Amino acid sequence: MSPGEKPEKNEKNLFEDYRGVWVFIEVNKDGKVAPVSLELLGAGKRLAEKRKTELAGVLIGSQVKQLAGTVFEYGADTLYVYDDPIFKHYRTETFMRALLACTEKYKPEIILYGATSTGKDLASAVATDLPTGLTADTTILDVEEDTGLLLASRPAFGGNIMATILCKKYRPQMATVRPKVMKALIPEPGRTGTVIAESIPLREEDVRTKVLEIVRETIKRARIDEADIIVAGGKGLGSPAGFQLIHQLADTLGAAVGASRDVVEAGWIGHHHQVGQTGVTVTPKIYFAIGISGAIQHLVGMQNSGLIIAINKDPAAPIFQACHYGIVGDAFEIVPALIEAWNKALS
Ligand code: FAD
Repeated sequence: MSPGEKPEKNEKNLFEDYRGVWVFIEVNKDGKVAPVSLELLGAGKRLAEKRKTELAGVLIGSQVKQLAGTVFEYGADTLYVYDDPIFKHYRTETFMRALLACTEKYKPEIILYGATSTGKDLASAVATDLPTGLTADTTILDVEEDTGLLLASRPAFGGNIMATILCKKYRPQMATVRPKVMKALIPEPGRTGTVIAESIPLREEDVRTKVLEIVRETIKRARIDEADIIVAGGKGLGSPAGFQLIHQLADTLGAAVGASRDVVEAGWIGHHHQVGQTGVTVTPKIYFAIGISGAIQHLVGMQNSGLIIAINKDPAAPIFQACHYGIVGDAFEIVPALIEAWNKALS
């Protein structure tokens, strides 16, 4: 069905059936609720309070019921649970069928997903099938109290402006939200809610996608989205050999290695190290930006770090407008001196 053929659903009475803010609860590989889902419960709670409606989670997986307590402690009033071995591994087809069935039955007005590989995949599949609109990579969320219109804002045009995207004609309104952008509520131990067990008539033989094997990528270093300290390097390091200086400082400090997009595109390091608009958003306690100019697309991914230390030989580099401490000079002189001083202090 082309967009032109979609039924017009903008009449008020049709929207009145849609109530409640939902968060898709993602489960990590270690069987815990993904931090981004806890953050979204915090964001969802604020939207639900403004709309005087309830906040619900949707949990899909195998042997996941026991996560209900965490979801309630972080703000949900209700949890819809699909707990079945068929949901053991994430598959677009199975998760989408469950979420579509739940949406059709209970009609939420807003659904939020983490902008993770799972959340992005699921949200786009659900949006296409419903059909409804989806704002990807949202960084600011609000809602109009009276109309219930979700105001989903995200950087646009290369990060130079913030665009607020509305979905006026369709429900539910949906958005994916980057990890580490929203704040989780302080958990309330012992807080409870209503668990609603759901199921769909789906047999394994009807599912086209099979998970044959899971091959885990071995990443030797700490992940940048989890690290307390990140040493990030840019094109100013000159070459893959020059970029080794970043690894040396990271080794010394026990830090993760980050990079600008230009470094990733040059093939000096893999994409999962890229910080920024088209990479990962990070909020470490300490962020070193070395030989990085400070383009807006990089800044949006690290500007909420606790302490930003920039090293750049150009005093006019924009990174100096975004850092707490700036050192003007050649990275090849300053970084070895830092490593030496650190090692000396510890010996
Ligand atoms: P440069 O801009 O080339 O800066 C190198 C810096 O190193 C300069 O400031 C220079 O003074 C300094 N320098 C040189 N030699 C030395 C030395 N010896 N010692 C110290 N300093 C030195 N970029 C990202 O990083 N992440 C993103 O997610 C991202 N997404 C983007 C999305 C879009 C749609 C677009 C259009 C761009 C995106 N970019 C992103 C690219 C971004 O615009 C910049 O091009 C990029 O961040 C620049 O990388 P850089 O700072 O490493 O390189």
